[in-house]
Amino acid sequence: MERGRIRVNGDMSVTGVWALGDCALVPNARSGELSPPTAQFADRQARLLVSNIVADLKGKPTRLFAYKPAGMLASIGRNNSVAQIYGLRFSGLIAFMLWRGIYLLKVPTLSRKLRLFLEWNYAMVTPPDLVHLGFKNTGDSD
Ligand SMILES: Cc1cc2nc3c(=O)[nH]c(=O)nc-3n(C[C@H](O)[C@H](O)[C@H](O)COP(=O)(O)OP(=O)(O)OC[C@H]3O[C@@H](n4cnc5c(N)ncnc54)[C@H](O)[C@@H]3O)c2cc1C
Repeated sequence: MERGRIRVNGDMSVTGVWALGDCALVPNARSGELSPPTAQFADRQARLLVSNIVADLKGKPTRLFAYKPAGMLASIGRNNSVAQIYGLRFSGLIAFMLWRGIYLLKVPTLSRKLRLFLEWNYAMVTPPDLVHLGFKNTGDSD
């Protein structure tokens, strides 16, 4: 373990087991750095790990994880996002639509995609929900 994560070899193997995603420190052969704990990396690691496990079972060589991230997208509020894709930086509604489109594509099953699409569009035309934070004095005994 290193910084709470399992330090793995470049092909995501550790002695006798495999690890990927947030729980693992996976070296990225493309950049020479450790992979960040993001879904973008976990997803690519999963795809390679499947083929590495199959290769290992067949006694064939495994491949190193090497990935160049496409960029970053972050939602920063209602109908607004910031993006850096292939070095290009932009923001606003276009970045927001792109953010939503990409995330919608990633959500598994058609019914979930449809539900999310309807919920998102409903939320765009209705006022934001108020959340009751339930503040309480930590010194209270009850
Ligand atoms: C609020 C938030 C926002 C994020 N936003 C982004 C983003 O915009 N873009 C991005 O790329 N990444 C984002 N991330 C990071 C991304 O969610 C993680 O990097 C990604 O989910 C890691 O995938 P994983 O499969 O390694 O782990 P997880 O997705 O955490 O999956 C681990 C699974 O294992 C299950 N589990 C845990 N313990 C046990 C057990 N003992 N037995 C059985 N099952 C168990 C858990 O319930 C969970 O389902 C965000 C994370 C958070 C918390």
